[in-house]
Amino acid sequence: MNLFQNRSLLIATQHGKETVMAPLLEAALGVRCITSQGFDTDTLGTFTGEVERRLDPYATAKEKCLQAMERMGCDLAVSSEGSFGPHPALFFVPSGDELVVLIDKRHGLEVFGRELTTATNFAGSAVHTERELLAFAEKAGFPQHALILRPAAAAPTGIIKGITEQAALLQAFRQLLGQHGSVYVETDMRAMHNPTRMAAIGKATEKLIGKLLHHCPNCAMPGMDVAEAIAGLPCNLCGLPTKSTLAYIYRCKHCTFAEEVRFPLGKQTEEPRFCDYCNP
Ligand SMILES: [Zn+2]
Ligand SMILES: [Zn+2]
Repeated sequence: MNLFQNRSLLIATQHGKETVMAPLLEAALGVRCITSQGFDTDTLGTFTGEVERRLDPYATAKEKCLQAMERMGCDLAVSSEGSFGPHPALFFVPSGDELVVLIDKRHGLEVFGRELTTATNFAGSAVHTERELLAFAEKAGFPQHALILRPAAAAPTGIIKGITEQAALLQAFRQLLGQHGSVYVETDMRAMHNPTRMAAIGKATEKLIGKLLHHCPNCAMPGMDVAEAIAGLPCNLCGLPTKSTLAYIYRCKHCTFAEEVRFPLGKQTEEPRFCDYCNP
């Protein structure tokens, strides 16, 4: 049973994310993707801070879907929302967190895919010379990845976005330095200006698709999701249970049917260095 075959799927997003999302969704779900012409998702928050995001990322992604569905008069939508900052488990390592949410009003479905990755160029720095500026640019993957300049970190005005040429970068630098005496450079995180981010959105979309194709064995609805991870993967030296994941419990949101999947991370034993007995 494919609940999505031949339906229109609204991609409630701008910044060109549909170029990576639509081919994946159409191939896997049999939908026809459409985009939300004229719907400005920036009203729900921008990376550069002119509009502060007032909801958390998940709620923002949902809100984008709901508002765009209302506007376009359709019952199936997907949207994406990215967050950038220090990795939650690795100190001082920048990370990108991409969330893709699908809402199907006809079937009462809400399913998400998430990609948390350290593959991001997210960074910002005050720069005092053209040499410092160009060194930052090289590290950020410029000019394939765009840059933003402004007078200071979080300055609300004088922001120059989407710079993709060296001549324009240097010109903007000189202009800001002349006007304000200081310049702050940062990576442009809007998807169409950031191929690394676009790839992460693709991965989050693939994870969403994986869940949508995982049907409940009891009621056949899509969207089985991990509800619990069970520790106890055995050590390959002593055989005692470790803290590593042995199984996932998948639960259906519609009928609450639960299914245990053993060895979800692809390995059946754990190395002794993660064993409390072998490596206390
Ligand atoms: Zn079910
Ligand atoms: Zn052991």
